[in-house]
Amino acid sequence: MSATNLTEEEKQQARLLKKKAVVDQRIAAATEERGVTILLTGNGKGKSSSAFGTMARALGHGQKCGVIQFIKGRKATGEQLFFGEHPRVDFHVMGHGFTWETRDPQLEQQAADQAWSLAKSMLADASIDFILLDEITYMYKYGYLDEAELISALATRPAHQNVMMTGRTAPRVLLDSVDTHSKIANERHAFANGVKAQAGIEW
Ligand code: ATP
Ligand code: MG
Repeated sequence: MSATNLTEEEKQQARLLKKKAVVDQRIAAATEERGVTILLTGNGKGKSSSAFGTMARALGHGQKCGVIQFIKGRKATGEQLFFGEHPRVDFHVMGHGFTWETRDPQLEQQAADQAWSLAKSMLADASIDFILLDEITYMYKYGYLDEAELISALATRPAHQNVMMTGRTAPRVLLDSVDTHSKIANERHAFANGVKAQAGIEW
């Protein structure tokens, strides 16, 4: 039967098969087995929550996880209350200093240094499968930490280790070096229409 005699259904089926062949080819070509670095940026809501969702996935597979939150809110977050209790999660919130409300450069520097030293030790620890460095990009924006040190620690980490990082903006070198980068755009946010921030959604 010539192509012109095909029914719509048959044409659709042929298109699907063609697409499947392309996908199968890509799957066959992806043979490298190693951990990845993932960076989530942008002004839209969903960066930290996506990173914690991925961590839940890793935990489901029995993996060991480490979390460092580089910005401390006023109250304990749901993710800290929930994952902090998990026996396979090493959860840290950066000490005093960096919050959205107060600025004390000396305390902030101290807290950033401590948090980075913890992150560095996790990035050298082969027993940790998944690391989440939440809001770490602000440390580079405000000049508390050196992005070259992060790039180097990521490059020399154990080969199987997965690392996720979040923050609205990130230094160019980091954007260029990660395996996966997603930018979440803000199309609309309830807050802009006067809806109050709430537990379980915002924190
Ligand atoms: P989430 O933790 O909900 O995934 P996020 O990590 O993408 O958010 P951040 O930039 O870390 O967002 O902002 C932290 C807080 O601000 C969260 O409580 C979040 O719900 C809220 N938020 C995020 N994006 C917006 C926005 N576009 N407008 C107003 N509030 C926002
Ligand atoms: Mg966040």
